[in-house]
Amino acid sequence: MACREKLRLVGIAGSGCLSTVVVTAVAVGLAAGGFAYLAYGQAQERPSQEPPRLAADRHTDPRIAKAIEEVSADRIRQTIEKLVSFGNRSTISAQDEDSIKAGKGIGAAREWIKAEFERYSKECGGCLEVKTDTFTEAPGERFAKPTEITNVYAVLRGSDAKQADRIVLVTGHYDSRNSDIFNGTDPAPGANDDGSGTAVSLECARVLSKAAAKTRFPATIVFLTVAGEEQGLNGSKHFAQMAKQQGWKLEAVLNNDIVGGDRSRQQDASVVRVFSEGLPAAASEAEIKRIRMLGGESDSPSRELARYIADVGRSYDAGVKPLLIFRLDRFLRGGDHYSFNQQGFAAVRFTEFREDYNHQHQNVRSENGIEYGDLPKFVDFDYVAHVARLNAATLASLASAPAPPATVRMLTKNLENDTTLTWEPSAGATAYEVIWRSTNAADWEYVQTVSSGTRATLKVSKDNVIFGVRAVDTGGHRSLPVAPEPER
Ligand SMILES: [Zn+2]
Repeated sequence: MACREKLRLVGIAGSGCLSTVVVTAVAVGLAAGGFAYLAYGQAQERPSQEPPRLAADRHTDPRIAKAIEEVSADRIRQTIEKLVSFGNRSTISAQDEDSIKAGKGIGAAREWIKAEFERYSKECGGCLEVKTDTFTEAPGERFAKPTEITNVYAVLRGSDAKQADRIVLVTGHYDSRNSDIFNGTDPAPGANDDGSGTAVSLECARVLSKAAAKTRFPATIVFLTVAGEEQGLNGSKHFAQMAKQQGWKLEAVLNNDIVGGDRSRQQDASVVRVFSEGLPAAASEAEIKRIRMLGGESDSPSRELARYIADVGRSYDAGVKPLLIFRLDRFLRGGDHYSFNQQGFAAVRFTEFREDYNHQHQNVRSENGIEYGDLPKFVDFDYVAHVARLNAATLASLASAPAPPATVRMLTKNLENDTTLTWEPSAGATAYEVIWRSTNAADWEYVQTVSSGTRATLKVSKDNVIFGVRAVDTGGHRSLPVAPEPER
C-alpha cells in the first residue's frame, strides 16, 4: 500500500510512513522553495510528524485519462475550418434565413454549432440537452441598431440527483471580427480568436458526452459558445446574469479564448496561460476589507480554480502544462471570464503563451511581406487538442468530485499556535484534506488527510500559512478547496 493510501486510511493520526516523506520533503523543498517550510517549522515547536508535500501528488482517474485520449486534433481542425467557412462571424453579420442557407454570417455559424451539439447528443443516446439563450442588445457604442444575440450551449446533466445542481462550464466565443468592428461582411476568419476556443468547448462536449456512459459524472457539465464577445462581452454577460438570477451553483468557468498556439517562432507550445483574478470583482467593500485583514489577496475562488487546474496538469498528460498568471487578463484586453467574475463566479481564462497581433482583429491582407489575418494556417491544431485535453480533464475531475466543503471555519477564539478547522460535510465525500502553503508560496505545498469527521487540529500556526479544505471521494477525486473564514 502506498504511503498516501495509508495516510488516507489512518487519517490525521499519522503513520510510520510519514517520516520517509519528511526526508523527501526537505530534500525537494530545499531545491524548490522549501525554505519557508523550514522557516515556519523553526518558528514553533517542530511537529513530531511532518505532513507530506503536495508537489509529488498525482490525482489520476484512469477513466478520465482514457476519456481525454479521445480528443482529436483532426476533429478540431475540421471544426475551425468549418467556422472559418462562414466568412464573417461578427455579431453584427447576417443571420437572416437566406444567409443561413448560403452558409454565411453568424446565423449560419450558430445553426451549425447547434446541429453539432445535437449530433453528439444523438451519438450518446440523447445525453445532451441542446439549448439557446437569445436576447436583443440595444444600440450602443458597438451596435448601430438593435441586434439579436444567441448563445448556444449543451448540458450534460449530472448523474447524482443530489449533486446535479452543481455545475461546471467550459466556454469559447464563436463571433469574430476583422480590423473594423462595424464590418459584418468582409472576411473575418477568426480561426484562433476564437474558433480555437469554440472548438475546445465542442470537443469537450463530444468527448465527455461519449465518456459519460461509462464514467458517470455526479455534477452537471455545461458546454457553452457565446456571441458578442468582440462587441463588448455581451453574450457572456447575459448568460452569467441568467446563471446568477436562476441561482445556478456554478462552481467553475473555463474560458478558452485564443488557444490556437499561433505558429510564430517564439511560441512555447508546452504551456498555456491560465489567467485568474486576485481580488474578486464581485466582492463588496466589507469583503475587500476582510480580505485585506486576512492576507487573502491570492485566494479568490477563481485563483483556487487556477490552482486546481495546475493540479490537473500534474495529474494528466494533456500535452500542455498550465502556466498560472495571477492577473485577471492581459493588458488592454478583456474576456468572457470577467462577465462570470462580475456575477461572483469562479472563472479563469486560457490563452496561448505568445499571441501574434498580426493574426488577430486584422483584415486578411499582405503588406511589406507580412501576412495579416486570423487564418487556419497559423493555428497549431495539435496544440488546441492539448488545451482541450486539459479542459476536459479539469471538467471531468470537478464533475466527478464531491461538493466543496461548506461553512469552513478557522477557530480564532484563543491565542494559540495550533490551528483548528471545522466544516460541514459535503455530498459524495468520504474524506477531507486540509491543505496549506506558506503565505509567500504560489501553490499549495502540504496536505493532511482527515479520514473521519469534519474537524481537524494541526500543529501549524495559522499566522504563518494559508489554509484550504477540500473534499475527497472514494475514487480520489478532489473538490475545489475552500479557504476558511475565522470564527471567534
Ligand atoms: Zn477573443
